[in-house]
Amino acid sequence: MPIAVFPLGALETNSYFMYGGNQAIAVDVGGPPDAMIAWLAEHKIHLAAICATHVHFDHLYGVAALAEATGVPVYTPSGDDVLAGTEASKGGIWGFPLVPPFESSAVPSGKCAFAGMECEVLETPGHTPGGISLYFPGQRVVFTGDALFCRSIGRTDFPLGDHATLLRSIYEKLFVLPEDTKVFPGHGPTTTIGEEIRNNPFCGDFSQ
Ligand SMILES: [Zn+2]
Repeated sequence: MPIAVFPLGALETNSYFMYGGNQAIAVDVGGPPDAMIAWLAEHKIHLAAICATHVHFDHLYGVAALAEATGVPVYTPSGDDVLAGTEASKGGIWGFPLVPPFESSAVPSGKCAFAGMECEVLETPGHTPGGISLYFPGQRVVFTGDALFCRSIGRTDFPLGDHATLLRSIYEKLFVLPEDTKVFPGHGPTTTIGEEIRNNPFCGDFSQ
């Protein structure tokens, strides 16, 4: 699978490279990205973009440093703009440091391409108001941020989180993907859509 994962930061946020040929996209950067930068050099892979699944601080700590090291554009979901400037996005709470600031533009909506790979941007709000999942149909891969985890789902007790909205996102946007689609979540191990449809204890009422 053309994916490299780096659990970064105090919350071990999964920070990913998805690559095809010699180009890659970074999905979330949760801490100092030294290991990611070294990986790019070692594999002679060119970073094309950085994309955040949502703007919670633990997914952003390394974005500024990786963008500065590579000069690539940063994309964040526009639906999360309401969180920009709040503690949920810029950090500085619960003993966590502040997120180094960076410039970003809105993630494209719907079908687009990243690093030469076809991608569908799925709107999966609930954990945050504008959270997205990035689905790569050619590779049968989806990055779900903190919407869907292996046997769990995202918290909805943060500002502007909504449990019913999150479940609807999971049912209507993620559980309709091919069952063999590999799920790469924002924290913890990988899984598949089919395994979560059958085994995720938080999604037991999918049939309703
Ligand atoms: Zn989050």
